[in-house]
Parts: sequence; structure tokens; C-alpha cells
Amino acid sequence: MYRIIKPGIVLKCIKCGKTYTPAPRLFLCPKCNHPLEVVLENTDFDWNKARRRRLCVWRYRELLPIREGIDPVSLNEGGTPLIKISNLYEKRVVESPNIYIKFEGANPTGSFKDRGMTIGVTIAKHLGVEGVVVASTGNTSASAAAYAARAGLKCIVFLPKGGVARGKIAQALLHGAEIREVDGSFDKALEEVLMDVLRGELANYYPLNSYNPWRLEGQKTIAFEIVDELGFVPDYVIVPVGNAGNISAIWKGFKELYEFGFIDKLPHMIGVQSENSAPLVKTWLSGSNDLIPVKEPKTIASAIRIGRPVNWLKALKAIIESKGFFETVSDDEIINSMKLLARYEGIGVEPASATTLACLIKCMNKGIVKKDDNVVLVATGHALKDPDIIIKNLESYL
Ligand SMILES: *Cc1c(COP(=O)(O)O)cnc(C)c1O
Ligand SMILES: [Zn+2]
Repeated sequence: MYRIIKPGIVLKCIKCGKTYTPAPRLFLCPKCNHPLEVVLENTDFDWNKARRRRLCVWRYRELLPIREGIDPVSLNEGGTPLIKISNLYEKRVVESPNIYIKFEGANPTGSFKDRGMTIGVTIAKHLGVEGVVVASTGNTSASAAAYAARAGLKCIVFLPKGGVARGKIAQALLHGAEIREVDGSFDKALEEVLMDVLRGELANYYPLNSYNPWRLEGQKTIAFEIVDELGFVPDYVIVPVGNAGNISAIWKGFKELYEFGFIDKLPHMIGVQSENSAPLVKTWLSGSNDLIPVKEPKTIASAIRIGRPVNWLKALKAIIESKGFFETVSDDEIINSMKLLARYEGIGVEPASATTLACLIKCMNKGIVKKDDNVVLVATGHALKDPDIIIKNLESYL
């Protein structure tokens, strides 16, 4: 692995704290089965040097775990627009003028998953495997398929039957992935199927699932870009939570900037889940030390229809460490926010992303987020990902 990964980087268990030397298929702690985290001990990162490069994931190369000289498999992911809202403030839908949308729908395949995939597929390519494999609610498969194509690797995606938005399946097909449908919801069924085939038939495929800690290293660049573009650290960052990798990754990004002395404060992280698909909100509210899973998660936001988030403990830590919180929103609030963003700001997002505005409105009504607070909403995916939801809910316009 140290041919690909920078020397000195270790993987650390988020539960027991034991550290390990990176190995190609080491993702979970062999002792306690919790996810591992990439630990970067030092960096020679320098804003001035970085800013001479284009705004994208690889601008922050010195903060990424990939060794110098390793050629990345890249589609210029990242560098997404950070858009300050205007009309929603004029109309007093939100009470602070300082609300920003980080529009991740502008990534090459239309979601933030590309930021992680560039790292994951770069590793896969240099490991010399035959292909990559993922279980996904959709966007991970679209992204994996595109990056595998770029790398000249095969791609197999496991999808929950009937549970994936059409735009996402279309992308996986277009980029030439082999699609295998699995009965049941995203969670255990899918992960278990994947574990089985990886032990046998797909032993030469590199798994890029949510427990793969290297993907999160790419996703943490959302935090870097927010600071880079704003020039300051926002008060709150609101992130939709499914498998809970992204919120953990963004928090890790802020923490690294802080620990290496590049920023002098940290934001509060707010994780949003959909009402009937909210295992982390439940777990957090109950103060439980174990995940309280949701057996049959239901929501129109298919990207976060997950009842047993793989990275639940990482996300819980992010919320506690950042003195943030979890919140739920309803499907109606999601649709309403999707319309508000589209009609007043011109920003088209998929339902999961609209949870962030719905959550902000709720937090403002409760008086938690105040009228001058700086808030970044992470709009994770593009509206075109899920055209059926739009047409179904707005058909009076056809
Ligand atoms: C994957 C995804 C999420 C959830 O991210 P996690 O890292 O699984 O919590 C949210 N929105 C969109 C559009 C996604 O594709
Ligand atoms: Zn452990």
C-alpha cells in the first residue's frame, strides 16, 4: 500500500483506538469490527501554493493520503460553486442573509460521491485489480461506474431492487457497469451480498463501499473548499445523512485544518435525516452507545433511505465533538424546500439535498440558528438524478 499511500499514514479504529498499517482490504478493525479512519500526522500543505492550482479535490494534494507521483484517476471533481442565497432572504423564507449552498450537483457525475471516488479508484487502479464493486442507493454506483471507465477497470454495482432513482441507474448503465439487483432495502442485505461475493467470485475486485476509509479522504475536501472560498469558517454546516460518511468526512476536513493551524475555529455540524429514516437522530436523542437501526426506512429521498448507517459512530462523534446536533424533516418539507431552491434560487437538487434547506428553516423557527449566522448547506446531488419525484410531485405543471 505504501507504493500508493504516503509513508507514515496509519489507519486507526474509531472505537478502540488501535492503529494499523494500511493494507488493500483493511477497512474494519479486526478486533472490534468498527470502521477505521485515516490518520495524517503532518502535512506540508500551503494555501498559497495550493491556490495556484485549479479549484478541485487535487488542489489539496498535500492533505490527501495519495503519494506524490501517483497519477490520479480524475475527472476534475470538486471545485463546485458556493452560492450565496439571495431571493430566499428577500422573501424572508430564511432570516439570515449569510446562507450559502455548496452545490455538489455540479460534480462530474452529479453528486459529491465523485470526490471520494477519485481517491478510491486511483487506489484500485494502482493495486492492479480487475475491477471495482459497490453496493449503493444510486449515486455511488453512478460515480464508481464513471471513474472505473476512466481507469479502464470493470465495475459491478449492487442495487436495491426498485429503490434507485432512474437518473442514477441510467448513469451506471451508460458507463458500462454490470448491475445486480438485490431484494430488500439498502442495508444489511446489500452489504452481506457484497461481502459474500467478495470472498468468492469477486476476490479480484476492489470494494468501494461506505466503510472504505479512503473515499472519505476525498470527501473531506468539501470542508477545504468551503474555507478556501469563504475565507472564513461558517457557524453551521448542514449535511444530509445516509450512511453517514459524508458528514464524518467534512468534519474530519475541518478538524485537520484546525489541528494543522490553518483555521482558528470550527463549525457546528448539523446532520439531517428524513423522519421515517432517522436511525442516527434516534440514537443521538436516546444517548445510546449502540446504533438504534430503523428496520424499514421510508422516505422519498432515496439517497438517504438507510436504516443501518455504516459510519454511524463516526457521525455521532462529529456531532458531539462539533457541539452540533441531528434533526429530522418530513417528506413534505423536503418537496417544499426542493421547490424553494429551484424557483427562488435557480438551484435544482435531488430530494436528499433539499433536506438541508428544510432543516435550516426548522432550526430558524426554533431560534437555534440566528439571523446573522453563517450557514453552509451541502446540496449533495443534482435534480436530474431523480426526475420521477419531480414529475410526480409537480405534475400539474405538465
Ligand atoms: C450518498 C448521498 C447522501 C448521503 O451521504 P452519506 O455519506 O451516505 O451520509 C446524501 N445525498 C446524496 C445526493 C447522496 O448521493
Ligand atoms: Zn477497534
